[in-house]
Amino acid sequence: MCGIVGYTGDKQAAPILLSGLEKLEYRGYDSAGLAVRDGKLLPEIVKAKGRLIALKEKTNDGKAVSGCCGIGHTRWATHGEPSDVNAHPHYNKNKNIVVVHNGIIENYLKLKQKLEKKGYEFVSETDTEVLAHLLDYYYQGNPLQAIT
Ligand code: GLU
Repeated sequence: MCGIVGYTGDKQAAPILLSGLEKLEYRGYDSAGLAVRDGKLLPEIVKAKGRLIALKEKTNDGKAVSGCCGIGHTRWATHGEPSDVNAHPHYNKNKNIVVVHNGIIENYLKLKQKLEKKGYEFVSETDTEVLAHLLDYYYQGNPLQAIT
């Protein structure tokens, strides 16, 4: 079962996210990733197949990723093999919508086909990626309105 951690505050987010994910390791996972946002810049997204140590190495224990707001995820694959690309977070083309998710989206294929017809391109095999593109499709400046 996956693990999800979020942080926003006045400290650097990445080390806190990694430490939170470490506490959730017991749940089992096959890959991990995080997205961290620094001010108005687009989020930096880092993902790694395998144990959390791989993500820690890629981010220099989080020190290489700067920003005080972020999300982290350990994935238990249900749709698509364990890989860097299929690891969460997933995002839209502009990288201004970034999601992590636990569970299964039963109707993801129908949604994916609909979005592909509208020109959306998918990079992963996951069901989760439809969420990022679907929110992009509905987003008109208000995240809550896009979700509801
Ligand atoms: N269904 C999603 C995937 O395969 C989420 C799996 C999970 O809960 O970690 O990426």
